[in-house]
Amino acid sequence: MSQSDKNFDYKHIWHPYSSMINPIPCYSVMSAKGVYLKLQNGRKIIDGMSSWWSAIHGYNHPILNKSLKKQIKKMSHVMFGGITHPSAISLCRKLISLTPKTLDCVFLSDSGSVAIEVAIKMLIQYWHSLGQKRISFLTIRKGYHGDTFAAMSVSDPENSIHQIYHNILSKNLFANAPISSFHKKWDSNDLVSFQKIIEENSSKIAGVILEPIVQGVGGMNFYHPKYLKKIKILCHNYNIPLIFDEIATGFGRTGKFFSFQHADVIPDILCLGKALTGGTITLAATLTTRHIANIISMSKVGCFMHGPTYMGNPLACAAANANIKILETNQWKIQVSNIEKQLYKNLTPLIDHPYVIDVRILGAIGVIECSRLVNMPLMQKFFVNNGVWIRPFKKLIYIVPPYIISTNELNKLINVITQALNDSSLFL
Ligand SMILES: *Cc1c(COP(=O)(O)O)cnc(C)c1O
Repeated sequence: MSQSDKNFDYKHIWHPYSSMINPIPCYSVMSAKGVYLKLQNGRKIIDGMSSWWSAIHGYNHPILNKSLKKQIKKMSHVMFGGITHPSAISLCRKLISLTPKTLDCVFLSDSGSVAIEVAIKMLIQYWHSLGQKRISFLTIRKGYHGDTFAAMSVSDPENSIHQIYHNILSKNLFANAPISSFHKKWDSNDLVSFQKIIEENSSKIAGVILEPIVQGVGGMNFYHPKYLKKIKILCHNYNIPLIFDEIATGFGRTGKFFSFQHADVIPDILCLGKALTGGTITLAATLTTRHIANIISMSKVGCFMHGPTYMGNPLACAAANANIKILETNQWKIQVSNIEKQLYKNLTPLIDHPYVIDVRILGAIGVIECSRLVNMPLMQKFFVNNGVWIRPFKKLIYIVPPYIISTNELNKLINVITQALNDSSLFL
């Protein structure tokens, strides 16, 4: 890549959450294999992010590549309206068999945010079918559900990047985020705020939506399974459908295949994305119960009003099938549990560091909460110069490495984080 390419990128191309005036410099990646990203200068760096929780088996995986090649020889895409194809059928069959048996109907879409839009639209239409105008959703603070409008409207209203849209978003209900953390003692006071809101608004709430157990980029909190159990009971008592956003956590990341399995509760709607295709190509899914699907279908319009152009994209479905095939060998359980053990052993001691206020670990997720804001561009550069790819934000340095990472590679990530903590110039 020439300097003029780099200049072009800098001047003309938006990157996620970037500025067009003063963008944070981007690193050119020329190829990737296993846990390594190969930069333009030939250096290989260890990816601690799995390309945002998605490349769980590492890059350039032979089985994923093979499935894509096999599919591309048949067709890359065909419309899903009035047409179906084997890759979508086998994927949906798999998704239904992997999820609780009440989840019976699958809606495929292009990205996590769209899967959330679909879930929200489904419940609005569900209540409409039942002759009720219910359009508010109840969620918990510190959540993140994506960047489209309905997804933003249920993401944390104050903390989040979506603050400026606040006035034009649907007015949803926000309970306090639970404080009892996953490994600590359950405090029933956590429930007070949620319970009060659901009691006072039960006749107008269309649904409850939350990330089960792990709140992702809204704050990287791991909350107590009891909280989720109690939420489920409240939703059941008030007859309000429950949506779980497992877009970040699904497919083994937290040590269970789905994060909600830590609490042994079942949602009415489940959103999947990110790791669904093993980090190869974008795809998401919204699963729902037969009951909800039937009520929606009994509405006056007689159908669910959503249909992305690339719905059920065959390449994406083929990749997802291959991803699930790899997971079915059950290696992920050992891999994730080994990562977790190593994080406990080598990341936990950082709690004594003066810049660290908390260390949180669950499955293959390691989080360092700092007492100071990180200087993101500087710290990112430091990481790259030291051979790792980690993207810190606010006061958080976190890693979600590919499951295939070796002991040495994971230690390298942890060592470089330790070095970064020792360099006060990397903080604001
Ligand atoms: C990433 C994410 C989304 C949005 O998914 P996109 O594919 O980026 O649209 C939604 N919910 C959670 C929990 C996520 O982590």
